[in-house]
This record gives sequence, structure tokens and C-alpha cells, in this order.
Amino acid sequence: MKTFADLQQEVIQKGLCHRCGGCVSVCTAVNYGALGFNEEGYPQYKDVEKCIECGVCYMVCPEAAYEEEAFMKAVGWEPPAGPVLGVEVARAISPEIRQRATDGGVVTALLVHLFKKGMIDGAVVAKRISPFQVVPTLVTSPEEVIESAGFYHDVSAGLQSLSETYSTFAPSFEAMRPAMVEKLRRVAIVGTPCQIHTLRKMQYFNISPSETFYLLLGLFCSGHFNFDEAGRKKIEELGGFKWDEIAKINIKDALIITLQNGEVKRIPLSELEDLKRPACKFCEDYSAEFADISFGGIGAPDGWTSVIIRTPKARGAFADARRKTIEEFPLEEDPKLIDKVLDIVKKASEAKKEKANENKKKCLGNG
Ligand SMILES: Cc1cc2nc3c(=O)[nH]c(=O)nc-3n(C[C@H](O)[C@H](O)[C@H](O)COP(=O)(O)OP(=O)(O)OC[C@H]3O[C@@H](n4cnc5c(N)ncnc54)[C@H](O)[C@@H]3O)c2cc1C
Ligand code: SF4
Ligand code: SF4
Ligand code: SF4
Repeated sequence: MKTFADLQQEVIQKGLCHRCGGCVSVCTAVNYGALGFNEEGYPQYKDVEKCIECGVCYMVCPEAAYEEEAFMKAVGWEPPAGPVLGVEVARAISPEIRQRATDGGVVTALLVHLFKKGMIDGAVVAKRISPFQVVPTLVTSPEEVIESAGFYHDVSAGLQSLSETYSTFAPSFEAMRPAMVEKLRRVAIVGTPCQIHTLRKMQYFNISPSETFYLLLGLFCSGHFNFDEAGRKKIEELGGFKWDEIAKINIKDALIITLQNGEVKRIPLSELEDLKRPACKFCEDYSAEFADISFGGIGAPDGWTSVIIRTPKARGAFADARRKTIEEFPLEEDPKLIDKVLDIVKKASEAKKEKANENKKKCLGNG
């Protein structure tokens, strides 16, 4: 049985760890303190003697490829962008949600609907405390879901944290602990593709608390960026603005920054490669291929969200929310929009896989 010692050798030391936190969260001996995180958020042995060598941490790691073939078959994975049952371009009906949201507010509107219908009693989301800083949060009401939508700049929090390293990454597994403590029965989880991959593996291997996962909602992801002082300076120079002028952030095919005076700055993602977290350079998943349902802004008109429905469970949930909390884009205005969105997502997925393999060959000597 492979253990955390193998994860250290095969994943962490090679720079492939995404810091999703899955291995620490599922560790059978975590209450003994066998595993923990180091200062940079990477998993590490806290006390190797307490490891009972159960192998669960190795099973769930998205980079460890444990029983990969059987897992991929079970989830019906297909190249290049994972399973696709349907594609939608949609937005929240509520103007309040749309105003707070990153794109069309569909993630928030779907969660609100699931709460109102009693289909979930908790959701793991990320609360933004400044444009580049998010904290994972367990919410238990539609009001709290709406509060955690969006990308708005909190000036006071931003200034307070000016000396810290900003990150767009939210270690969402941390927020699952309160869900376990509160004994929630059905939890929806919003996460990045790497986090969703780990959660799906937990489900596949029946690792607790995956019996409580009701729906896995994935966000498209080009990469997560760390903005330390030098990084922030670079962004200011590239965009020609000051950090504290930022009102809103979005990531589509570029980093899109809206200033408080309404001006919009677009910084090509290719300019930000050196600010990417190291593991993101080797990541092959653009569209959260292991989610029940995935969301992104790419391909959709401004103020709308591109949605990929991947499982029958998500199809049912989305259909039930239609015309209640979610409205679809009027396709008579652009009859080819759905085909275009799918095409763009497939191309972005292929490009991410190619780049990851190139980087792996360059840095690790394999592909
Ligand atoms: C760092 C990052 C990179 C992205 N890159 C791309 C990209 O390259 N291309 C693209 O098309 N789309 C990308 N997206 C997705 C896009 O920004 C929107 O999140 C998506 O379109 C859904 O929009 P919405 O208005 O429907 O969601 P909303 O209704 O605004 O809801 C968004 C939900 O996501 C949660 N959330 C926010 N940030 C995080 C985080 N870091 N980790 C976990 N949960 C979070 C919020 O709490 C909220 O519940 C990225 C998102 C993030 C956070
Ligand atoms: S106890 Fe199990 S899950 Fe925890 S570190 Fe050891 S092998 Fe991994
Ligand atoms: S990728 Fe996630 S599961 Fe794998 S070693 Fe890193 S934190 Fe643990
Ligand atoms: S690119 Fe996104 S999904 Fe991939 S490792 Fe980075 S944060 Fe995770």
C-alpha cells in the first residue's frame, strides 16, 4: 500500500502538488496529528510515527493516478474536456446576485435554488476578502451564498494585507471540517478543477465525508496567481494603474481588471506565467472535467456564464432552477452561441494539456 511517503516522492518533491489539501483532510490519522501543512500550505508529515499506512491520502491525490484507468472509466471521462451532457449560457434572474457575481451569477443562483428546495443544507464556497485573497467558507443559507458571490475589492482588507502575499487560491478542504462537525447531510462544493478532481476521487473510493457531497460545482481555471510585492508591482506596470484603484477582478482569456473609475484593463495571461503557482504550470484540467457541472466566463457575452453540464444529477438540478433563479441567453440573438462556447472550451482544454505536457517535459523530463 502506497502512503504519504510515496506522495512526497512522486508528487510533492517533483513540484506537482496543487496544495488542494485533500490528503491532509482525509488522513485517517489526522486527529493524531500525522499530517499537517507547512507555512506555504504544502502537506507534510507532522509525526510520521502516527501514520497507520492506510494509503487513503495516496488514493485521493489527483496527481498520484491511483487506479486511474478504472476511475476515468467510472466517471465517463472523454477527451479533450471531460464528459459533456449539455452546454448552456445563462445568468441569475436576481439583479442583486448579478451585481455581486463574477460573470452571470449562475453558480450562486443554482446554490440559492438548491437551498430553497431543501436539496442541500450546506455549501462550501470561497469568500473574497480582497480582489486577490479568498477564504474558504461553509455557508448554510441562501443569504450567505449571495454574500460570498463576486469579486469586489474590499479596500480596508486590501490595505491591511498589503504586506502579505495575495493568492487567488482558496484551500476549500479546510471548510469541510465544520460541515463534518455540524453533521450536514447534503453539501454542494464549489472548487477549482484540481480540488474537484480530489473530491471526485474521494467519492469513487467511498472515503468519508464524500457520502455528504450532493453536487460538485467546478470553476474553469487557467491558473492561480500569487501576487507578492514584486508581482503586484508587475501588474501595476503592465496595466498602468495603482493597486488600490482596483474595483473588480475577473479571469477569462485574460486577467480583466475593472478600476473604480470604470476603466477596464486587460492583461494577457501569457504575461503572468511567472506569477502562477508552480503546480499550475503542470495542470491539464481547464474546465473542471470531474465536476457535476462546470462554469466559466469564456465564450459567453459579458454578464453571462458558460455552463457545462456533465452528469444527470446536475442536469436535473439545472433544469429545476431554470426560470426560477436562472435564465438562459436568448439564443435567437446568436443561434450558434452554444456551439461556439463548446468549441472555445475544447480548444482551451487542449491548449492547457499541451502546455502542461511541454512544461513537464522541460522541467521533469517526462510527458
Ligand atoms: C482563480 C480563478 C480563475 C478562473 N479562471 C477562469 C478562466 O481562466 N476562464 C474562465 O472562463 N473562467 C475562469 N474562472 C471562473 C469565473 O471567474 C467564474 O467563477 C465563473 O464564470 C462563474 O461565474 P458566476 O458569476 O456564475 O459565479 P458566481 O455566482 O459569482 O459564484 C462564484 C462562486 O465561486 C466561489 N469562488 C470564488 N473564488 C473561488 C476560489 N478561488 N476557489 C473556490 N471557489 C471560489 C464563490 O464563493 C462563489 O460561490 C476562474 C475563477 C477563479 C476563482
Ligand atoms: S494514516 Fe493513511 S492517510 Fe494518513 S498519512 Fe498515513 S497513509 Fe496517509
Ligand atoms: S495535490 Fe492535494 S492531495 Fe496531492 S499531495 Fe498535494 S495537497 Fe495532497
Ligand atoms: S491551474 Fe487551477 S486547477 Fe490547475 S492546479 Fe492550478 S489552481 Fe488547480
